[in-house]
Amino acid sequence: MKYIGAHVSAAGGVENVPERADEIGAKAFALFTKNQRRWEAPPLTPESIAGFKQKCAALNYKMDYVMPHDSYLINLGHPDEDKLQKSRNAFTVELKRCEQLGIELLNFHPGNHLSKISVDECLQRNSESINRALEQTEGVTAVIENTAGQGTSIGYKFEYLAEIIDGVEDKSRVGVCIDTCHAFAAGYDMSTAEGYQQMMTEFDQTVGFEYLKGMHLNDSQKELGSRVDRHANIGEGKIGIKGFELLMQDDRFDDIPMILETPNTERWPEEIELLYQMAK
Ligand SMILES: [Zn+2]
Ligand SMILES: [Zn+2]
Repeated sequence: MKYIGAHVSAAGGVENVPERADEIGAKAFALFTKNQRRWEAPPLTPESIAGFKQKCAALNYKMDYVMPHDSYLINLGHPDEDKLQKSRNAFTVELKRCEQLGIELLNFHPGNHLSKISVDECLQRNSESINRALEQTEGVTAVIENTAGQGTSIGYKFEYLAEIIDGVEDKSRVGVCIDTCHAFAAGYDMSTAEGYQQMMTEFDQTVGFEYLKGMHLNDSQKELGSRVDRHANIGEGKIGIKGFELLMQDDRFDDIPMILETPNTERWPEEIELLYQMAK
């Protein structure tokens, strides 16, 4: 079964998120557990934590289908030691917030090398950052997202994701999330049946479906291989309807959170409905 939803707003507190997800017909959701553009955040209050858990239970959201995204400021592969440490601390705080909320997945982008260290060195730093954060927390899986390969970001090829996983000690607590827009921008063509099969075979052979913990469902405004990250609503970009039909018909993507991050949020109820129709 498919679990489709969206990245909904946590304005006013995380306890407001489950209802917002329910209103748009989502069976899965993503959120920020703190302001994504700031380093610091006030700790979660006991009321917020209890409220979040209560609403999830009341609205039937199992934690398997809740996948928060970490702050955009964090770079777990930073070339500079001080800044790397700052990112590692912030990432550990994010994992702890998930732990407090009973959430089992935390999605993040691998860090950028900023042209100051090699890709390999950056990949190793990412693995080491994950190791350190996992050691200090319990029960939450670090979910690495493929990137569009914009600027100096790493992780746009499946091999890079596999390499990061390779350096993680506790393999039971690391996974990946495929963002369809990022994959397309990075050169994986899921717009045709042939391209789709090729992409998924390559994913299976390099990373492996056993590591797939979630998906981000976005069409792409930019061309195949553009390495530019611009999300489009489903069917309004260069991937097109066909690619999403293939995905929805593929049972390798059952039972994981599938999250819309499309720009026109007004369309979410309709997009979720459309995707469920395709999954039938
Ligand atoms: Zn994404
Ligand atoms: Zn993106």
